[in-house]
Amino acid sequence: MMLIVMTAGATPQQLEQVIERIAALGLKAHAIPGAQRVAIGITGNQGSVEPALFENLPGVLEVIPVSHPYKLVSREAKSENSVVTVRGVPVGGDNFAVFAGPCSVETPEQTLTIARAVRSAGAQILRGGAFKPRTSPYAFQGLGEPGLVILRDVGREVGMPVVSEALDERSLELVTEHCDMIQVGARNMQNYSLLRLVGKTRKPVLLKRGMAATVEELLMAAEYVLAEGNYQVVLCERGIRTFADHTRNTVDLAAVVAVQRLSHLPIIVDPSHGTGRRHKVIPMARAAAAVGADGLMVEVHHEPSQALSDAAQALLPEELAQFMRQLPALLPLTGRHLAQALELSA
Ligand code: PEP
Ligand code: MN
Repeated sequence: MMLIVMTAGATPQQLEQVIERIAALGLKAHAIPGAQRVAIGITGNQGSVEPALFENLPGVLEVIPVSHPYKLVSREAKSENSVVTVRGVPVGGDNFAVFAGPCSVETPEQTLTIARAVRSAGAQILRGGAFKPRTSPYAFQGLGEPGLVILRDVGREVGMPVVSEALDERSLELVTEHCDMIQVGARNMQNYSLLRLVGKTRKPVLLKRGMAATVEELLMAAEYVLAEGNYQVVLCERGIRTFADHTRNTVDLAAVVAVQRLSHLPIIVDPSHGTGRRHKVIPMARAAAAVGADGLMVEVHHEPSQALSDAAQALLPEELAQFMRQLPALLPLTGRHLAQALELSA
């Protein structure tokens, strides 16, 4: 893999010439605009590409062989932090975004009640599963497309972009049609055919870390999406499997720091699936904000005992509201501020 860095003053014609030469070799060019200059990633090569083919073209500053197995997601490809915009809400950069909502969309009333509560608490993006990856085939599997329609309509009503999980090709089509962001869950992080399909869409993607995936494997999974031309990926640390049994999973906050060193992509933390227990969610959410995560995903239910999935980890709306009042004290520690929510069209 190689990265071609253009000079700050390179013209569009010079950029085009480099891209044409890459295409002439039968390879794929990915122009990655940066604040100072454009970098061009090359993919599609099996072996190495001769740097001399590009070094002397006008407008080329440097030809850098990329040492990591991932390319487009790497800091080498783009030094400044990416901002992914989810129907108007920015995630990443200095924006801290809160994704909140029920584990599953259950009824229009349940979804609207929870959405109103999380929106007024200050969350910007509404989550809700309609295609649920359940451990047991006998457990509630989600409402399917009708659930997505409920989520979409509620999102519009309360003024929040919506995200929902796609499990396979068919649900991906539906999530792409109805939602503002596509979630790929922990269990599908290494479903490479799904990742390629997600990469062919032009919707923002929330990619959750697999429960036994290394940081490198997470970045390689994101690379599949970017390699197809979809650069709008937000990563999510949601806890990994360890021997610990005091939590459902072990929230690996050091992964946030590791990812931010290696990649320009935003990374948020999900302390709900990460801990599995309501009383542990807010303390870990505070820790995630302090460590420098770009946002949070939390599950909320107004009647947790009635929740059809993940009841034990659902926050009460008031618990989220109280935490959101603490956030402004934490975010300046890492140079962040709360992302701007959508304007309510009165
Ligand atoms: C979810 O967010 O609804 C979910 C199923 O999470 P994960 O894929 O992290 O288990
Ligand atoms: Mn859940």
